[in-house]
Formats: sequence, structure tokens, C-alpha cells
Amino acid sequence: MPLANLLKGNSKLFAAALLVALAGSVAGPNAALAAAPQHHDQVPGFFRLQVGDLEVTALSDGVTVFDPHWLTGKKATMDGVEKAFHEDPHLLDGAENGFLVNTGRQLILVDAGAGAWWGGPGLGRLAGSLRSAGYTPEEVDLVLVTHLHSDHIGGLTTQDGQRVFPNADIYVAKAESDFWLSPEIAAKAPKDAKPFFQSAQAIAAPYIKAGKWRTFSGSEPVVDGVELVPLPGHTPGHTGYGFSSKGQKIFFWGDIIHAQRVQLQHPEVTVVFDIDPTAAAATRNQLLPKLAREDVVIAGPHMSFPGLGRLRKEGRGYSWAPVTFTDQWIEQ
Ligand SMILES: [Zn+2]
Repeated sequence: MPLANLLKGNSKLFAAALLVALAGSVAGPNAALAAAPQHHDQVPGFFRLQVGDLEVTALSDGVTVFDPHWLTGKKATMDGVEKAFHEDPHLLDGAENGFLVNTGRQLILVDAGAGAWWGGPGLGRLAGSLRSAGYTPEEVDLVLVTHLHSDHIGGLTTQDGQRVFPNADIYVAKAESDFWLSPEIAAKAPKDAKPFFQSAQAIAAPYIKAGKWRTFSGSEPVVDGVELVPLPGHTPGHTGYGFSSKGQKIFFWGDIIHAQRVQLQHPEVTVVFDIDPTAAAATRNQLLPKLAREDVVIAGPHMSFPGLGRLRKEGRGYSWAPVTFTDQWIEQ
């Protein structure tokens, strides 16, 4: 097409562009940009993953910042962590996640977030995330809890003692339940630890009263196809849950990692909340190489949302390969 025809054909466009340019020069160079309002709402706090026949939905309870003083390790390592934190104040940013597994027969929640029991304005969002994902708390059949710290079970009970999941049976290791729910152990606990006992007892109370608090003491099957994996150290009955379907696996590892950007490179670093730090580090040192070797999806309550990824060996430590976000239902 000759240039003259092309220009003629597009003359209306040129005129429109000229008007826009003129309008811009009157109102200021960025008038068009400034006119678009900002949007501060976000995508809902859930993300789904297919694991064999299982539908796994990560549910955000909110975000947290881990305090550097909560980490303990050798002086040289901790000096390095302090320096890194000084240079990068976001080094210890973290998350609170719970996970919902729809097996096709049962709806199982693994950990319930902090609810109103841990503090922090950004927490307590799990039930809302669950509703956004298309479920109701009444539909949940079972809750498997990794341990009884309030940032994992706070979402089970409101502050006025009502069950959030009225139809669910709560499953926890007997060693865990016996420890945190014991008035005798609570009475002897150091002052700093007492709130953990008080919150565990208050959160458990309405489920115990309703006959919905269940414990397991070995590897007896609680749910078909779910492996109970004792992960002692962080707490006495800290337990991981392994689900498999059609040769695919997902492992819910509880508090194996609190500060992913420190502890994956330094698995020997423990946290002040570990009841037995030596055992916690030993458990981590046994588990991480195994998970890095296997092709298993890991679900971590404190890993950056959605807290789903795989572990890879990197140098003397490990790196986290997060699942890639997509708005489609695909196997990852
Ligand atoms: Zn914990």
C-alpha cells in the first residue's frame, strides 16, 4: 500500500493521538497514569495443588516477622546472621499457613494457623481463606495438628471458647497432648513458657468437652494412606504427616523450618521455642537429606506462601524450590 493511502487510512487515528497529546500537555505529562486509581485488594489467600488424586489447598493465615533473637547457634554463625539481618531487614520475613486436603472422601485440615491466639495484626485469616477456597469450617472432618503451639492451633478456637470446626475430630500425638495439657508440667514451666501451656489448654478445651480431641501414640493409621512421622525436638510430640496418591507424595513438616533463609543453609541453627534443641537439630539433619533426595512436595507452615515446594541440596545446606504460581488446576 502506498504511503499516502496508509496515512489517509489512519488519519482518524492520528487525529485522536494528536488530541490525546494535546490534552496531556494541558493537564500535565502524567495525567493518564494519575487518573487510574490504585487497587489494594489482593488475590484470595489460597492456592491449590494436585498431588495424585488429592486436592491440596494452601490457606494463608497471614504473615509474620521472625525475631533474630529467637534463633540460636554457634557464635560465628549467629554473628553472620546478625550481619545479614542488618543488611537485609527482610531476612526473617515469614508466613503462617495451614493446608486443606480433600481426599475425595474426607476434608482434612493440617494445622489451623494462629487465629487470635498468637498476636500480630496480620494473622487469623485462615478461616476466611478457607471460605474463599469454596469450603466452610463445618465441612472439615479432621484436623491433623503437627504440634500444640498456638500459631498452629489458634485457628481451631475463638477467644471466647467456641469451636471453629464444630464437626471436626482433632488429632495430635499423645506425647504432645500429654505434655501441653498437663497442669503439673505447666505449673513447673518457666515463666516465658507458661503462655504456651495456657493457650494450648484453652484451645483444646471445647474439643475435649465435645469428645472431639483424639490422640495417637504410634504409627497406627489415623487416616487411610497417611503416614505419621515423629519429628521430636521442637516439641515432645511434634509430628509430620505424609500423604501419597498415585505415586506422588506430599509431606507436611510442621516446624522443621522457622526461618527459611537461615535454617536451610544452617540446619544446625535452632529456635528458642525448641523444647529440646539438640533433638530438634538432629531431627532436621535426618529429615532434610531424605526429602532432598526424594521427589516429594513439602508443605511448610512458615515457608513463604503458599508454603509449597521442594528441597534441593545446595552447598553445605539446602535450597527451597517453590511451586510456581498458576491460576490453573494442574499437577505440579
Ligand atoms: Zn512451633
